[in-house]
Amino acid sequence: MAQRTFSIIKPDAMRKNHAGAILAEIERAGFRIVAIKKLFISKAQAEGFYYVHRERPFFASLTQFMSSGPIIAMVLEKDNAITDLRKLMGATNPANADEGTIRKKFAASIEENAIHGSDAEDTAQFEIGYFFAGYELL
Ligand code: ATP
Ligand code: MG
Repeated sequence: MAQRTFSIIKPDAMRKNHAGAILAEIERAGFRIVAIKKLFISKAQAEGFYYVHRERPFFASLTQFMSSGPIIAMVLEKDNAITDLRKLMGATNPANADEGTIRKKFAASIEENAIHGSDAEDTAQFEIGYFFAGYELL
């Protein structure tokens, strides 16, 4: 059954002009782009998005990074979208990412790792709602 997930092209990939190449990989893998926008979030907005990680030692650095430049936020749809996007992204640390994955190709480090993808149904719902209104999801 078609499922929706949420993804971000992170500031490192935007700075390196990799957005188009990453979108091409996503479309080639069969995802439909339901909604998409470029935006520049504040540190407070990044903290709200990554609230689940607030106790982690990398929280300050991560939210600083995510507010360091423009991002592209998007909602993607396909069968098994959540799992399939995580597979296409590769491991969090690009050093451990499989050949052919987006992070293997485009990520520089465990923090500056090019792309975000929701990790479960409930987080996908929260993340979609954080960035998009219902009327934008057509
Ligand atoms: P994302 O949630 O962005 O899709 P992920 O689910 O693979 O990535 P998480 O454990 O949710 O990884 O971590 C969220 C983000 O925090 C990572 O994508 C990365 O940018 C950053 N991060 C994770 N672990 C570290 C770390 N040890 N040091 C620095 N940054 C980290
Ligand atoms: Mg995560």
